[in-house]
Amino acid sequence: MTKTPSGGVCHSCGKKLAGSLKYPYKNKFYCFDCFKKIEEIVQNENNKENDFIEYIKEFFQVNQVSESIVSFIRKAVESKERTFEGMKYTIYYYYKVMGNEPNIEFLTWVLKDKYSEARKFYEDQQRIKKVNEGIDINSTPSITVKIKKSDLENKKPKFNYKIEDL
Ligand SMILES: [Zn+2]
Repeated sequence: MTKTPSGGVCHSCGKKLAGSLKYPYKNKFYCFDCFKKIEEIVQNENNKENDFIEYIKEFFQVNQVSESIVSFIRKAVESKERTFEGMKYTIYYYYKVMGNEPNIEFLTWVLKDKYSEARKFYEDQQRIKKVNEGIDINSTPSITVKIKKSDLENKKPKFNYKIEDL
């Protein structure tokens, strides 16, 4: 195995790579089509990261997100331990549901330590929702639920992803 094979095959589809028509990505070589696909995925991930950073800025009312937070997020996603959606939900859970005071100083800790708790909460919510959907409204006594149309509702981000994505 040499790092710069003269011929070789595409690391993704196995197609023979002729001469200069090979494209390197992370020390592997790809055909044009596969390389384009990788580029798209990378671009998509970058967009997701930017969106999440923007979300954090708005949520904590800050102009900048520190390099250590960005690097934590990047590593968490690259290692597939966390997703952007899951981390977004964790912020929602910890600050909006639990009512903790937003402080960006502790964000890394929150994303690190509260992620699985948030995930569990999300799963429970989905379960409750399913159970409620199965209830025949006519046969159950009406219940008055005191929920103020609070901050919580207004700032609730849209989560239209599946639990598998968390
Ligand atoms: Zn290929």
